[in-house]
Amino acid sequence: MLNSFASVQEALDSGKSVSDILEHYLLEIEKNKHLNAFLEVFEESARASAKEVDEKRAAGNAGKLAGMVIGIKDNMAYKGHKVSSGSKILEGFESLYTATAVQRLIDEDAIIIGRLNCDEFAMGSSNENSAYGKVLNPNNEKTVPGGSSGGSSAAMAAGLCTATLGSDTGGSIRQPASFTGTVGFKPTYGRISRFGLLAYASSFDQIGTFTSNVEDATLLTSIMAGMDEYDSTLIQEPQKAYSIEAPKEKLKIAYIKDCFNSEGINPIVKAKSEAILEKLKAEGHEVAGVDFPYLDIMVPTYYVLTTAEASSNLSRYDGVHYGYRAQDAEGVEPTYKKSRAEGFGEEVKRRIMLGTFVLSQGYYDAYYTKAQKVRRLIQDKTKEIFKDYDFIISPTTPDVAFEFGANSADPITMYLQDIFTVQANLAGNPAISLPLSEDENGMPFGLHVMGASKDDENLLGFSAYLMNK
Ligand code: GLN
Repeated sequence: MLNSFASVQEALDSGKSVSDILEHYLLEIEKNKHLNAFLEVFEESARASAKEVDEKRAAGNAGKLAGMVIGIKDNMAYKGHKVSSGSKILEGFESLYTATAVQRLIDEDAIIIGRLNCDEFAMGSSNENSAYGKVLNPNNEKTVPGGSSGGSSAAMAAGLCTATLGSDTGGSIRQPASFTGTVGFKPTYGRISRFGLLAYASSFDQIGTFTSNVEDATLLTSIMAGMDEYDSTLIQEPQKAYSIEAPKEKLKIAYIKDCFNSEGINPIVKAKSEAILEKLKAEGHEVAGVDFPYLDIMVPTYYVLTTAEASSNLSRYDGVHYGYRAQDAEGVEPTYKKSRAEGFGEEVKRRIMLGTFVLSQGYYDAYYTKAQKVRRLIQDKTKEIFKDYDFIISPTTPDVAFEFGANSADPITMYLQDIFTVQANLAGNPAISLPLSEDENGMPFGLHVMGASKDDENLLGFSAYLMNK
């Protein structure tokens, strides 16, 4: 399977062209159409780019990613191509510019093969909220591929690209990576420019990667990361070099005691994650349980703050500026109302209303201000743990992938999917899901490793160590 850059480079070394590699993926996509991972395949532009990269290779001046074929989540702008964020409200809308992250990959000769299905505006944990249908998990087609980057995880797991991009606001890269057996990396908030990423909750959103190995995640991140004048929230310090060296010293690893004792955790997920901790201990690393008193309030805090930000970010979709417009509305206000009522799906409307409510005059302090304060407490406590420890380990998800419909009836049960992943977004830390375990039916689940803020490099180094041993 051509599911790593190393395997692509091997094929190139054996005489295959970049166009051959692309055709291989186009065929695989066609064969796996029923997964519904791709919303659109950019056949024409991808073929033209592959030809150009082949010419550059012949001339000896191809970029670092020549041969890499990448699918992007349908919430990233790519000039001249459609983007909809999985929503009907953006049906037919075409990007006017290219997201910085995507452009940097193109500048190194990566080929963008298409846009991948996702939950509408990245809101969800199962991809069941997409206006364009569900995505099947290639490991078991009765189950969800996770969300919101479900198309990205499924395409990677099925070998339809060399790597895919996703976005992670509360777990949308790491949870689907866990469900599909892929490596899902969310860098530190502010590591990769959000310019051209369709916003959900701007103080949480971060672009990241789905790959089959840590080396590819490291390479792609090092290329996408760094200063960009279009995103003022980017980390202003120069990056350290990205290394994927195995850690040389004894590491100090923390696990949050309550995570492993939390209700609803699958006993196999608990046992196998604990076994990894035991192994690390046996190898001479220090492994210790720590208290973190905010586990139960992290998900509520996340949902107050992200819905507030979403209600503001999504106000731009009014039926006038972009995409879908209701046909039979008369006057400006009815056009706004009808276009939004018809264009947004149920979950997005629920969150816009919730966000508008928590920001409303009478409730602002009780909900929004309070949640901001709790976010600060979570950030402080997380920082405190990282004063004493190098990494925090937990399972990525309490369970393996669930069946379609299993969590749809009650939004709260769906929201609890995010219990282990939201801390990294609330605090801004880098975190990764590594496919290190399976349940008794062979369904994968991830180990979640969080690193200290801005210490993406060591997190990746340790991850490579965990994957390769
Ligand atoms: N599942 C979470 C939510 O529904 C996370 C989404 C995300 O990270 N974009 O909000």
